[in-house]
Amino acid sequence: MAEAKRYYRKRQHLLAMVFKMKLWPSRTGLLHGVKSLEKTPAGFRVTTHCGLVFSARDSGSSRAARWLRAKQYTAPCPGCQVPPWKLKKYGSTVFSKRRGAVLPGAADPALPVDGGRRQK
Ligand SMILES: [Zn+2]
Repeated sequence: MAEAKRYYRKRQHLLAMVFKMKLWPSRTGLLHGVKSLEKTPAGFRVTTHCGLVFSARDSGSSRAARWLRAKQYTAPCPGCQVPPWKLKKYGSTVFSKRRGAVLPGAADPALPVDGGRRQK
């Protein structure tokens, strides 16, 4: 059975992508599961399931945004226990310049603090 592919636009805000996918590619190559997101004046704050808390700028061209689109990671974080279905779904996601959805969320000032709970 063919895996259904999801298309998203390439150029969009990092926050919108992270909010949608709940995944974060760390600098060390681990793919973390995102527990919650919180908007800050400078960007947003990420809390991972393994307990990391850090801030990021909401930029579509940042290291994290590029790695997220390129699916550049060496292993899923063992502490986050990202479920296999999520990795599979992520793997079948295509970021395209020409087609795909523009993700909501980036321009949404009412982004919930507990971003990890909202169902799609
Ligand atoms: Zn983690």
